[in-house]
Amino acid sequence: MSDCLFCKIAAGEIPSAKVYEDEVCLAFRDIDPQAPTHFLVIPKAHIGSVAEITPENAPAIAHIFQVIARTARELGLDSYRVVSNIGAQAGQSVPHLHFHVLGGRDMTWPPG
Ligand code: 5GP
Ligand code: ZN
Repeated sequence: MSDCLFCKIAAGEIPSAKVYEDEVCLAFRDIDPQAPTHFLVIPKAHIGSVAEITPENAPAIAHIFQVIARTARELGLDSYRVVSNIGAQAGQSVPHLHFHVLGGRDMTWPPG
């Protein structure tokens, strides 16, 4: 999508602090970190949110979760939280699917 912020980051048109990249996905540090380690993992192909996961794009999602596990391990995290906000009420501000990976501090439950 031409006017999508994370499509532009995926294409390298907007710079990001990358922590992992392959042909399917990109992991990069959140610009406004909410934990000592806070990175986002996005599919390079535009998907609006978890609500748009289908049998066709599900292999990319499975791949992303393997990337999350490996990247978190490589960054030294052995306890962390994976979050994806879906829709405005849940706090989604960028309408391109992304998984937040947060770690390095104590977490509370339930989330706000
Ligand atoms: P959401 O609010 O949709 O769940 O998460 C969007 C996240 O993207 C926020 O945590 C926000 O800080 C991050 N973000 C927004 N714009 C940029 C940007 O230009 N670069 C990076 N690295 N992160 C961004
Ligand atoms: Zn997009």
